[in-house]
Order: sequence, then C-alpha cells, then structure tokens
Amino acid sequence: MLLFKNVKDLQSYLQIQMGNGKLIGFVPTMGALHEGHLSLFQKCLQTSDLSVGSIFVNPTQFNDPADLVKYPRTPERDIEMLAGIGCHVLFMPSVEEVYPKGHKLPEPIDFGYLDQPMEGAHRPGHFQGMAQVVRRLLDIVQPDHLFMGQKDYQQFAIVKEMLRQLKLKTDLIMCPIVRENDGLAMSSRNVRLTKEGRLLAPNIFRALNMAKEKTSGHFPREIEEDAIKMLSMPGMEPEYFEIVDGVTLRPIEQFEDVDVAVACTAVKVGDIRLIDNIVLKNNA
Ligand code: AMP
Repeated sequence: MLLFKNVKDLQSYLQIQMGNGKLIGFVPTMGALHEGHLSLFQKCLQTSDLSVGSIFVNPTQFNDPADLVKYPRTPERDIEMLAGIGCHVLFMPSVEEVYPKGHKLPEPIDFGYLDQPMEGAHRPGHFQGMAQVVRRLLDIVQPDHLFMGQKDYQQFAIVKEMLRQLKLKTDLIMCPIVRENDGLAMSSRNVRLTKEGRLLAPNIFRALNMAKEKTSGHFPREIEEDAIKMLSMPGMEPEYFEIVDGVTLRPIEQFEDVDVAVACTAVKVGDIRLIDNIVLKNNA
C-alpha cells in the first residue's frame, strides 16, 4: 500500500494511474477503523482498479470542540488494517494540507431541506463542514466511484445532492450498515462507551427493529413515540427518532405517501452520541 501525506504527490501518482485507464474508487474516513469501514474498502476493491482511502479527522465538521479532541485516533493500526486487506493507496493529510493558508474555499452549497432536520438540527454547521471536506477530497482524488455508508444516511443524501449540483461524474455507492453481533452499529465512537453504556447501546437497534415490525398497521407518529419511550431510560437519552421520506428527508404522515421510508435516530448513551437508522420501506 502506498501512503501519501501531501496533495501534490498523491495527485501526480493518481494522474499516471488515470492516464493508464484505471478506474479509481475512493473511501473517505476519519480513521479509528472497524469492520464497517473495511466493508466499504472491500466493495471498493471489488468495483475499482485502484482503491484509494483517506483518513482525515476534519475539524470543520465538529460542532463540539471537545468531541474533536476526544475523537479516537489509531493511525498505526488503521494503516495495518488497510494494508492487510489490499488497499492500494492511503491518503493521510494534515489539516494544513487539506486547508492550506490562502486556499479559497468555494461558496457553501444550498442543500435546501436536506441539511435542516435531524443531525442538521442537532449539530449546527456539521453538514457544511462535512460537504466542504468531501468536496475538497473529491477535487484532489477525482474518483470514478465514491463509497459511503448507509450508517450516515443523511450525510449520504447530502453528498448525493452535492454531486448532482456540482455535476460531478463520480458514481456514489451506498454500503449497508455493519453491526456487532448484538445489533449495535459499528462506530469509531463505540470504544468510548462505558461498560454500562455498551450494554445499553443495543437498545437502539431494538427500537429500530420495533419500528420495522410496526410499519404495516401503524402511523409513523405512533411508532416514533413508542421508540422514544423505548430509548428513554437511565443512562440513555434519545435526541430524536424520526421516520422520514428516504429521498427528501421530510417527515411523513403515513407510509403510503412515500416510496422510501427510513427511521433515523440519535441517542446519547452516557456521554457518547450514537446514530443509527433502518429502511422501513423501499419501493424505489
Ligand atoms: P467515518 O470514519 O465515521 O467518517 O465513516 C467513514 C465512512 O464509513 C462513512 O461513509 C460511514 O457511513 C461509513 N461507516 C461508518 N460506520 C459504518 C458501519 N457500521 N457500517 C457501514 N459503513 C459505516
């Protein structure tokens, strides 16, 4: 695996590969890698000639500075994991490399309603920061395929909209959520859960499954209320549990109104904020 730390070297290398007709697949991450991330790389390796990953803890998408400081970082282990699965190229830039002094950032994109609800409402500025770094990384790597997880459903919808507005040729591919045996969605943040928190956290998947079971025969609002009750207990506090149109992310009155319905939730387990979702209906 080749490791690049600066933009120029990476671009010179990739230009040669593109010139040779190689299809480039890209997996952006913030590191502290787990099986969920690796599943994206596996997909990338199957689909592309050259798999490029990035590890960059992007400061501009952290609305809470303490969260940025505490974000887990395991660079040596990450490099070993990616080399072990046969990833071709890893880009690990510094903050200065991604946002060099004097580099003019493009105007923020208007995402309409997509960045307003759920994570957008609870993490002001998060999606603009995320979009900014994904745009910059796409500009550097110029991939044919971009692999992102369903785990961050709203992020996926926003990146899709960004690619549409910027008319980028990159093909965006959604990869399914990888879970622990007890249903907890894998996340870099899981290592920060306390013992008690780790035992409580699988309730998130239980609530999502309850929503799936009740999809036929119940109104979204009823299910949301039941889920909030299920997730409210000592040591655990839901921030939101919303059943939305999987395309527009707008709340839905009844399932018959939409082709795709998704339940999305954010829950604080102790001090750790976890997000998860489940597709309830997909007639798209
Ligand atoms: P992150 O490092 O958290 O920014 O995540 C990098 C990419 O991995 C994003 O596209 C995430 O949606 C995806 N991802 C994170 N956790 C999982 C998971 N448990 N299953 C599948 N994809 C995931």
